[in-house]
Amino acid sequence: MSATLIDGKARAAALRAEVAIGVAAFVAAHGRAPGLTVVLVGDDAASAVYVGAKGKACREVGIISGEHRLPADAAQADLLALVAQLNADDAVDGILVQLPLPRHIDADKVIAAIDAAKDVDGFTPINAGKLAIGQPALVPCTPSGCMRLIRDALGDISGAQALVIGRSSIVGKPMAALLTAASATVTIAHSRTRDLAGHVARADIVVAAVGVPGMVKGEWIKPGACVIDVGINRIALADGKTRLVGDVDFDGALARAGWITPVPGGVGPMTIACLLANTLEAARARATT
Ligand code: NDP
Repeated sequence: MSATLIDGKARAAALRAEVAIGVAAFVAAHGRAPGLTVVLVGDDAASAVYVGAKGKACREVGIISGEHRLPADAAQADLLALVAQLNADDAVDGILVQLPLPRHIDADKVIAAIDAAKDVDGFTPINAGKLAIGQPALVPCTPSGCMRLIRDALGDISGAQALVIGRSSIVGKPMAALLTAASATVTIAHSRTRDLAGHVARADIVVAAVGVPGMVKGEWIKPGACVIDVGINRIALADGKTRLVGDVDFDGALARAGWITPVPGGVGPMTIACLLANTLEAARARATT
């Protein structure tokens, strides 16, 4: 048996096309386009690439993309003042502060300062809390993308055994909340978990969000399971080149799983597409309040 590959690129393209239609309808109804502003502090090369990709993706669906760059030594007070200014700006529907922030800045404090109605990353305590207690919220983009892929593959997951490996606030915890809301029976594994292999073997759905290349072994996977690999790890090859791999031993898992996401081309493309969807959702909600 060989698993069906989940094509995150194609699913993300479909979601972007849906968002573009929604944006056009929003413009027709409200006479303005939704706006997303990204704040980048410092000159981290990877962050600059992500911010560039987000801006381009916005423009492609008709969302107005703004960008503020602050120097690496910017004072926390200046960043908080910028967030306050964006909170008050009616043309801004979504605010995203690119992480990681320089060490002298308290990231939790900055995130908490973002107006929850504009928190398109879903990282503020208000949105995280709403998700945890089952109220409508802006949901973090990566788990939201994973959930869409799981629903496409499996449909109703009520009663399914789901294992989330990783308990970060940006992936693992919100992922577990979404699976719980969909009535799966959810286990969260982390670095102190005993017998990870045993947990994986019982899971109908495995979401791996760890950051350790190939740590989930193919032979652990329950035959027919749906495997969602969030990990993005760059590994060195013998010829001096590098390659991106996930947290799951892909070749081994392919032989046992029912569905599996590749890395790259699985979860990654869904993250930005869900950011666009969240920005449209935020704009719609703000326009009706
Ligand atoms: P974090 O480092 O914040 O969290 C990693 C989690 O993995 C922690 O909860 C940690 O446990 C757990 N963990 C570490 N080692 C083990 C182990 N041996 N067994 C079981 N659990 C373990 O990472 P993120 O959640 O931010 O990201 C996870 C991965 O997903 C990374 O590779 C990242 O690059 C990728 N990612 C991909 C995105 C995408 O768009 N595709 C977006 C975001 C992230 P503990 O809490 O005990 O320390």
